[in-house]
Amino acid sequence: MTDLDGTLLDSHYGWRAAGAMIKRLRRQSIPLVLSTSKTGAELSPLRRRMRHGDPYIAENGGTLGLPAAFLSGLGFPYALRRDVVLELGWNQRRLSTLLEKLAREAEVRLRTLPQMKLQEVAQRTGLTIANARRARKRENSMPFTFVEATSNHIQRFLRAAEEHGAKVAKGARFWHLTMGSDKGDAMNALVLLIRLLTKENVQTIAAGDSPIDLPMLRQADLAVLFPGSDATVDPQLQRSVPKALVAHGNGPDAWAEAIEEALSRLRARPKTGIMTRRPVATANAPQALALLESFASRPPASRWRLKVTRRKAASRSLFP
Ligand SMILES: [Mg+2]
Repeated sequence: MTDLDGTLLDSHYGWRAAGAMIKRLRRQSIPLVLSTSKTGAELSPLRRRMRHGDPYIAENGGTLGLPAAFLSGLGFPYALRRDVVLELGWNQRRLSTLLEKLAREAEVRLRTLPQMKLQEVAQRTGLTIANARRARKRENSMPFTFVEATSNHIQRFLRAAEEHGAKVAKGARFWHLTMGSDKGDAMNALVLLIRLLTKENVQTIAAGDSPIDLPMLRQADLAVLFPGSDATVDPQLQRSVPKALVAHGNGPDAWAEAIEEALSRLRARPKTGIMTRRPVATANAPQALALLESFASRPPASRWRLKVTRRKAASRSLFP
């Protein structure tokens, strides 16, 4: 699982220097899961250029994309006409209402990314206007900024969010609100699905540079931390994942080097990662389908967005 901005991508959104490593992962059938706060729409041109056919986690864990070819490669038992996009988190309308409520409770002023003009989004992010438009198309997460807020205001806001069970994380350019899923939840869902389909243990490497990546960094078998532009790693990350591998820089060159090191460390380890200790139902393919369906029926907001050709399957949820 890799974050993009500040991790795999350089400050101009370049990734080509990591091309050889990306190819190698593909040759070795090691899924490269892109995990980002970008939207699915923003990711798709990048995924096309990268020839990326593996799953992706978009909108900070609110969305999990499962390409049809990836699923059938794992032995998914039903024909899929299109890729599956699971909305794990609340939708935008509900998030907006929640955000307004949190702002009122904490007495802070906020601006959400969809409220910003395209020019401003482009200016803040360095994106082209076309990509800024894609970035503004949120489905399951809400990026925002505080307006003239003191650290007291922000603390109050974070407490209110916690009381409501919302997830708020600080990314490189915006704060992000999700409800129901974060990068770690989406990673776990994906790992569980792969294990159910393949009946094999899955080991995970998670790469990231900011506190927004912590839920996946904490839960992966091996975390790789990337320093910011000031060459130091975020102290919260260092503290939270002290055994992580630390990359020598960020962007595609450093990323390729760090992933190479991470792969060899993981191979040298006995296979007792956190994922392998977690109890999981004995796997078979119908159960995997039930898992997908359980996402669909799991309240409050998850639902199928794309139709899947399937027989009627057990609706029993695999989640306790
Ligand atoms: Mg990042």
